[in-house]
Amino acid sequence: MPGSIREGTGDPLAVAVARQTGTLLDCPSCGSSHVAQVLGDNGGISYVCTACGHSWS
Ligand SMILES: [Zn+2]
Repeated sequence: MPGSIREGTGDPLAVAVARQTGTLLDCPSCGSSHVAQVLGDNGGISYVCTACGHSWS
């Protein structure tokens, strides 16, 4: 099913592509919906915009 979140692939770009069709997130910097979900330093989830490179959590 599209929209399922696959974690731990080690490939943020693959996650970004997977999320492009169904993300609910918009970049707070540029407004793009091309947002990748990545693992943060503390094992949490962070997000990075693949359009402008802005990252947040
Ligand atoms: Zn952005």
